[in-house]
Amino acid sequence: MPNGKKGSKQGLESVSTLPYPRQHEHVPGKSTGNVKGNRCDFTLSCYSKACTPESTYRTLYLEHRELFSDSELIFTDGSKSESHVGSAVVSLSTVITDALPISASIYTAELHALRIALEHISLSCGKKFIIYTDSLSALQNIVSLHSSSHPILVDITYALANHIKKKDIRFCSIPGYAGTTGNELADTAARSATGSSERFPIPHSDLKTYFRQKLPSVWHSNWDQQTENKLHNVIPVLAPTMPSSSNRREQVIWTRLSLGHTLLTHRHLLFGEPPPSCEKCNVSLSVKHILCDCPHSNNLRHRLFNSVDFTISSILNNGINSSLVSKFISIKGFIHHI
Ligand SMILES: [Zn+2]
Repeated sequence: MPNGKKGSKQGLESVSTLPYPRQHEHVPGKSTGNVKGNRCDFTLSCYSKACTPESTYRTLYLEHRELFSDSELIFTDGSKSESHVGSAVVSLSTVITDALPISASIYTAELHALRIALEHISLSCGKKFIIYTDSLSALQNIVSLHSSSHPILVDITYALANHIKKKDIRFCSIPGYAGTTGNELADTAARSATGSSERFPIPHSDLKTYFRQKLPSVWHSNWDQQTENKLHNVIPVLAPTMPSSSNRREQVIWTRLSLGHTLLTHRHLLFGEPPPSCEKCNVSLSVKHILCDCPHSNNLRHRLFNSVDFTISSILNNGINSSLVSKFISIKGFIHHI
């Protein structure tokens, strides 16, 4: 059993006393899939959330529950917030929770909850169980396991096919918004799960997503402190500025203009020549002067950009301008000197 789990006697006693109606032997839309002798039921996920009131979900759930009234009832749930990831299992007799590292995805938390439920079942004397989860994708993937599946999914399938294969275990997808007591108890338990999560192995796909989300903010806070960096004025806010449809040559031109380093303005450093000047203004030639400042280009700026008053940052921080900037420097005769 993973570290940090805790059990209690505050499970589903109240749920077990619900008056399940004996109305239907058949549930409309019922579909099952075999997972090596175990069944996944998607009945309750077949109904549209927009057209199905909570009371209807509750009735459907009670009818479904009645069909399997001889099975032990288990609810699982995963929870993820900015600062916490947890899994929980709620049965008639116990609540089991576990905390996961913050980099774990909600999908991993849902699968981990299912795995804990199976561990609980393997230690139980009971023979028949029904596990309700609000993770439709977890159940769908249990049915369609393939070689690149999530490692916890592999654990689950292995357990079902081996050490608990003699138990009758059914899974049922139940939407989180269905409002059943078991779902809500599992949700609350998952949100408050505590425990040591340091040694929990995280799938690489979770880490990739986590770092993709976190790295930009770390990068940006670092960049925010570099106000003396001359490129800070060009790109004060870090974001993809490269035109997505540009070819390699256009990307090179765009990057050199953004950096302010072009053949036209910097080749003198390579050849030991005097720095270039604007022929008309007799001031030092720079990308900023060409694109924004030179008054002799105002007519062209107005024609292309509908404005003569913009900054180097505003013009180069938006990939939408790329074709206009290319046209501008092309008309000015600089396109082959970038
Ligand atoms: Zn000029």
